[in-house]
Amino acid sequence: MSSLETAIVNARTAADDVQGELGKSEQDVQLVRDRAARNQQRLDAGQGTPKDLQALQHELTSLARRQGDLEDIEIEVMERAESLAAKVTTLQQQHAELAESVDVLQRELDEALRTFDDEATQVASGRADIVAGVGDELVALYEKIRLSSGGLAAAEIKHRQCGGCRLELNNVDLNRIRIAPEDEVVRCEECRRIMIRTGESGL
Ligand SMILES: [Zn+2]
Repeated sequence: MSSLETAIVNARTAADDVQGELGKSEQDVQLVRDRAARNQQRLDAGQGTPKDLQALQHELTSLARRQGDLEDIEIEVMERAESLAAKVTTLQQQHAELAESVDVLQRELDEALRTFDDEATQVASGRADIVAGVGDELVALYEKIRLSSGGLAAAEIKHRQCGGCRLELNNVDLNRIRIAPEDEVVRCEECRRIMIRTGESGL
């Protein structure tokens, strides 16, 4: 459970407790009211000795004071109940907002993952097309060299240098490469990588 959910449970429990307190407080006030009403009836009926009636009158006064005190307590408990109810509402709103943010982030994540999947599919299909175009034999050679050359099977010739091993090509090699047909696979005599001829090869 998150700390926010714990806070909601705690606030609800506190609110329930205060509701119980409020019920008890209302009961206390009611008991005093009932007793005062009974005393008042007996006074109004005028039954009993003057001393009894005086005692009843005296008790009515103290009951009124007691009722006032209890009603103060009741108001204080009511205020606490209201502030706790407000706290529960605020926490529940925060919880709803967070849940909404989590939903948004989850949707963004799902969308990003879908995009990655699409891109991965495109890249894979692109490679398959290239493999089909190049032919099995050259692909097999490429894979073989790639395994034996640390992952780099083909490199550009740049300024008469093999882009794989960085060694300068000698004139014999350069001549051989220069006259080789465009679709012939030329390889470095040193590192055996496939060499790619470009405008910057310096041939
Ligand atoms: Zn080389």
